Amino acid sequence: MLDQYRRDFTDFNIASAREHYLFQSGQKRTLEIAPIYERYSHLFDRELLDDLKKQMTGETDSDAETISVRRFFAFAVEQFLEDSVKQLTEEISKFESSASIIWRGHELTFQDSTVAITTEADREKRCGLYRRRLEIIESSNDLRIERISRLHNTARALGYSSYADLFEQIRGLDYQALAEQVSRVASRTEPAYLVRLDAALREGLAITLDQAERPDAMYFLHLTGFDDRFPSGRMLQIYRDTMAGLGIKVDAQNNITIDSELRHRKNPRAFCTPIAIPEEIKLVIRPSGGQSDYQSFFHESGHAQHYGWASTNLLPEFKYSGDYALTETYAFLFNHLISDSEWLGRFLGIKDTSEFVRSVMLSRLVTVRRYAAKLKFEEHLHHADKIVDQALVYADFQTQATSFKTEPGEYLFDLDDSFYSASYLRAWAFEVLLREYLKMKFGMRWWRSLRAGDFLRQIWETGDRYTADEMAAQIGIGPIQFGPLIDEFNTALT
Ligand SMILES: [Zn+2]
Repeated sequence: MLDQYRRDFTDFNIASAREHYLFQSGQKRTLEIAPIYERYSHLFDRELLDDLKKQMTGETDSDAETISVRRFFAFAVEQFLEDSVKQLTEEISKFESSASIIWRGHELTFQDSTVAITTEADREKRCGLYRRRLEIIESSNDLRIERISRLHNTARALGYSSYADLFEQIRGLDYQALAEQVSRVASRTEPAYLVRLDAALREGLAITLDQAERPDAMYFLHLTGFDDRFPSGRMLQIYRDTMAGLGIKVDAQNNITIDSELRHRKNPRAFCTPIAIPEEIKLVIRPSGGQSDYQSFFHESGHAQHYGWASTNLLPEFKYSGDYALTETYAFLFNHLISDSEWLGRFLGIKDTSEFVRSVMLSRLVTVRRYAAKLKFEEHLHHADKIVDQALVYADFQTQATSFKTEPGEYLFDLDDSFYSASYLRAWAFEVLLREYLKMKFGMRWWRSLRAGDFLRQIWETGDRYTADEMAAQIGIGPIQFGPLIDEFNTALT
């Protein structure tokens, strides 16, 4: 049974990733996932779920086949959930991709309105545009409420006490415990955070902490003042040179395609879609320059290298399903280069990096604190009976954690399925441990070491075979803990 399942599982993942890639890269106007779900419904129907569940019981954890069956079960449960809301997912996507805002005589797509907010120096205009964007989000919240309610009902119909309970069980994670660990990141970085943020807002945005709102955060995170140091024209060459330092010849990597074509509806944010692993990986950019563009491109290049080096011998369940925190760790490792003084000096010729690095670390802390609050919120939302009541909880958690006043209206828009926020948070913690390990073994400039490249390729070859915790243990740097992440922020900001 498993062999046939593996073949169809592979085909489903490839078809679904290709559809997402074509849509996000602006080559298809609409996202059509429902036909794919219909074609492969046998991979995640009730009968199959019951079958896999039966196979899981009574076996030991070390049994190789049991690990595979568990992976398939987790995949099937997650897709069973998505299958129950596929039309709504399409409808929301259609709404967002067709929405537009007329702004100062120009028509902006919904996606481009986000970019415009992050680069708008005039506060009044920035907040005005944000309100227009929020109206669009709010006008589609009914669809999102319906989608989340349905996901909650589906989870209960599968016999779990809640959506949160379902994900804790299939992932083997305790989100409540993680939320508590992460709340210590927020409390222990708070003094340095408030002092630095207050100073940065006064100086850069001419506002005080109690005036700061979410659109100011979006603008602040972009660090527009440093844009001229990160020219868009040099980004790809710097990527090639950085990887060459690790012994990776990007131009010879025929399996990783860089899609840098300009298309009207292309997502402005860089992204990576591993379509067939490792044979067909898409690294997609719409280069606009600036440090945030560099950060997101290098982040995505970490995903691309991870999947691009996955061994062809891996079973498909260890390529197409796994612990997202693992791939996010590799992505953050390359993301972090933009705050590495040595790297900035070498590749961008930036000499006095201290002010820039402090700004990047402060903006990263805004993001980490935002995600800590997101996880806490998801814990509430996914146990809640009445979804609409959670809007104020969201606003309250976000405002408290970031000090940027946040509106309730984004509570379901600013949300990913399946507790993805927890994957990011675990990855931020793991990445610091991995980076320190690379420095210890291969030197401060680990990215100039062929041996570091060999080591990375060796772990990337295992694809998604291991969870982030298992990989940390194998390297000898586990368990994943948040102390080093806290220390790194406090050192950078004081
Ligand atoms: Zn990522």
